[in-house]
Amino acid sequence: MEKNLSVFEDNESQVRSYCRAFPSVFSKAKGSLLYDEFGNSYIDFLCGAGAVNYGHNNPIIKDAIMAYLDNDGIAMGLDFHTQAKREFIQTFNEQILMPRNLRYRMQFTSPTGTSVVESAIKLARKFTGRENIIAFTNGYHGMTGVSLSVTGNRYNRQAISYSSVSRLPFFGYMGEGFDEIAHYRKLLLDNSSGVDLPAAFILETVQGEGGINVASEKWLQGLMELAKEFGALVIVDDVQAGCGRTGKFFSFERAGIEPDLVCLSKSIGGFGIPMALLLFKDALDVWGAGEDNGTFRGNNMAFVAAAAMVNGYWHGFEFEQEIAQRAAIVSDFCHRMHREHSGLIKIARGLGLMQGMEFFDENLTAQISKLCFKNGLVIERAGDRDQVLKIMPALNVDLDVLRKGLDIVEYSIAESIGLSVEHFKPFGANHSVSENV
Ligand SMILES: *Cc1c(COP(=O)(O)O)cnc(C)c1O
Repeated sequence: MEKNLSVFEDNESQVRSYCRAFPSVFSKAKGSLLYDEFGNSYIDFLCGAGAVNYGHNNPIIKDAIMAYLDNDGIAMGLDFHTQAKREFIQTFNEQILMPRNLRYRMQFTSPTGTSVVESAIKLARKFTGRENIIAFTNGYHGMTGVSLSVTGNRYNRQAISYSSVSRLPFFGYMGEGFDEIAHYRKLLLDNSSGVDLPAAFILETVQGEGGINVASEKWLQGLMELAKEFGALVIVDDVQAGCGRTGKFFSFERAGIEPDLVCLSKSIGGFGIPMALLLFKDALDVWGAGEDNGTFRGNNMAFVAAAAMVNGYWHGFEFEQEIAQRAAIVSDFCHRMHREHSGLIKIARGLGLMQGMEFFDENLTAQISKLCFKNGLVIERAGDRDQVLKIMPALNVDLDVLRKGLDIVEYSIAESIGLSVEHFKPFGANHSVSENV
C-alpha cells in the first residue's frame, strides 16, 4: 500500500518538523510502541520529546481519565476550584514535595513549556524589580517572546529582538578546567562588563534540545550561591529533564539544591495532554489576581492524569530504581558504542533516561536516525548541529523492548558505515514488532 501523505503536503504548513523525519501516518500507540496506519510498529525512543515519559496510553492514567469523563467530570473550568485540581494539589504535595522536604507554591500557567517559562521570568522580574535574565549557551526554553529570547539557537531566535538577556557559557562549554562560576562572578562585579545584575538565572540541569549537556552538581551548587550573593533568583527549567527523566522526579535533586522557581510541563500531565506547573517559594508570590492569565490553565483532565501518574509511579522511591536499572542498560550501551566506534562517536553522555551519543559528523547522525526509522525505531537528534543521537525511552519501558531498540541503534550504526550486519537483523527491512514484546 502507498503511504498517502498528500493531505498533509497540500494543506499543512511547511513549518511541520518531526513528521518530516518520521514520514509515516500513525494511528495507534501503546506503551513504547507506535503503529502506523498499515500496522507497522516502531519502538519509541522519542516519547513526545519527553511528554509521554510513562508510555503511550498508560493504562493506570488512561483508566483515571476515562472514569472522570464517564462521570461527567468538569473538563473546562478556567481556573475554577475543582475537585480534580484539589486532588492533584494534595497528591503532588504529599507524594512529591513533602518526601523531598520541598515546599513550593503552585501556579498553573497556560499549558505549554514556553508559557510556564514566560510566567517564571515575568514573576522573577516583578519580584526583583530587575530586567536582565541570565541564560546559558545551548539552552532551550521555548518559542514564544520572552522564552524565545533566552533560547540559544539563532535560527529559532532570528525574528525577535532580545533585550535584557545576557548569555553566559554553560557548564563545560569552555572546556574542562574552566571555572565558570568565577567567570560569571567577575562579570557581575564589573560595572563595565555589560552584564547587568539579573532578576534570575534560567537553566536546564541537563540540556535537552541543546545536546544532552549535563551540568555538574558542583556547578549547580555554585550557581545557587552566586545568585544568592547577587540577589538574583534561580529558575530551573525542568520541562524536559523533570518528571523522572533524569532518574529522580526533579532533575536538581541530585545536587541537593532548592531552586527559587521550577518550570514543569511536557510529562507533568502524565498522558501527553497539555499541562504546565510553575513552582516557586512562597515569598515570591507577589502576583496580583489575574495579573498572569490564560484560558487553558484549568485542564482538569490533565489534573486527573497528573494525579494518577504521581499516585501510580511516585509513591515512595521505588520507581527511581526501575529508572536506574534501565538507565544503566542505556549508558552501558552508549559507552560500548563509543568504544567500538571511536572514530565516529566523539562522546557518550547523559543522566537517567536522557542520554546521547555525539557523533563527529552530523550528517552521519541524520543518516543513522533515518536508518533507525526504516528499521523500526523512532529516535531524534539534538545539539547545535543536530550531531547528538538522543535516547529517550519511556521510563517504564519493558526491558525487552529497550534492548530491541538499542539493537536497532547498533544495527543502524553498522549499516550506516556499510558493515556487514546480516548476522543480526533486529527486524529486517519490513520490520514488525510483535504486540507482546
Ligand atoms: C520543550 C521545552 C520547552 C518548551 O515547551 P513547549 O511545550 O514546546 O512550549 C521549554 N523548555 C524546555 C527545557 C523544553 O525541553
